[in-house]
Amino acid sequence: MADSNNKEVHQKLKGNKSEIQKKLAGRNTIHMDPVIDRHYQLIGAGKSKEIIQRAMDLAREEIPKGAVATYIPELGKMDPHQLGICLYPLKGDKITLGDCDVRFTMQSVSKVIMLIVALEVCGLKPVFRKVGMEPSGEAFDSLVELDVNDSKPYNPLINSGALAVCGLLLPEVSFQDMLRFTRNICSDQDIELNEDVFDSEMKTCSRNRSIAYLLESKGIITTDVEDTLRFYTKMCSMNVTAESLANLGRKLANDGVSASDGKRYMSSRTARIVKTLMLTCGMYDGSGSFAIKVGIPTKSGVGGGLLSVSDKRAGIGVFGPALDAQGNSIAGCKLLREISNELRLNLFYDPEWNKEEDMGETVLREMQENSVM
Ligand code: GLN
Repeated sequence: MADSNNKEVHQKLKGNKSEIQKKLAGRNTIHMDPVIDRHYQLIGAGKSKEIIQRAMDLAREEIPKGAVATYIPELGKMDPHQLGICLYPLKGDKITLGDCDVRFTMQSVSKVIMLIVALEVCGLKPVFRKVGMEPSGEAFDSLVELDVNDSKPYNPLINSGALAVCGLLLPEVSFQDMLRFTRNICSDQDIELNEDVFDSEMKTCSRNRSIAYLLESKGIITTDVEDTLRFYTKMCSMNVTAESLANLGRKLANDGVSASDGKRYMSSRTARIVKTLMLTCGMYDGSGSFAIKVGIPTKSGVGGGLLSVSDKRAGIGVFGPALDAQGNSIAGCKLLREISNELRLNLFYDPEWNKEEDMGETVLREMQENSVM
């Protein structure tokens, strides 16, 4: 991690705006390489809206199979029938449909922000000394394996890993710093802490508390455990919209740079690491099948949010609070799957390879028919 880059982001977090702007002035360039143009044609504005509308109608059918989270009592009050999407291409207009301006809590989507800031402020080695970079294959709040030998959390996008990251962040930044950074990177100054959800989760977070104390016993968390837990839970309780998530995804899709004004929010390396972990670990124990079915790096949260990054093409935010067994938005996953197929957003899709016949889609349909997925 370049120290100068660490300092820039650190100062940004601390709110030293003019200094940061001066330092970033030379780097305010957007790299619109030919790949962006080529892929942008695949998601041309007018037709995309119709395609997404059709995908939403299909996705709605999934809602009755899911349920809102109730282990955080306040989340149980959400209306499961809500569904919204915002797709914001790097070039072109934002497409918004359904409940895309409804506020909901970020929950685990905030693990992406924690990781960005930790990589920028603390550096790559300190972060990966505390957490691994492997998918866990376990539930998001699992304690399994954590006490085996001297194992550290599998990755920063599950609860144990994010709590370890919070232990690193706590001496460096305050929650207010994180909130300010979140507002900026989501281009949404209205993001606030949802006190009701925060209080509700703090009363029922015995699993996270157990994980945090276990991490302390292993020397992974060295900060005050209760303060670390509060910091983590506050991050989860920030109120966003599908549109704010699309704004964040759009910056990740463009190498950490805003495609609107050219401001850099993180190094290229941080953007690449975050997107890779979103692809391999962003959907917990559903990450592998989601990567095969959808092929777009995505991070979910039990508030119903999905943050997706169609690299070099678009940022996507989805909101649908009815969840599947893994705690991922059930209609949101279906919606992303449909638009990935229809708009050719799969990371491994290449129009040059699939001119004659769309082999990928044929194989997927066959697997579905044979109940493999
Ligand atoms: N705040 C939630 C928890 O820690 C976040 C989990 C999630 O969104 N998957 O349990």
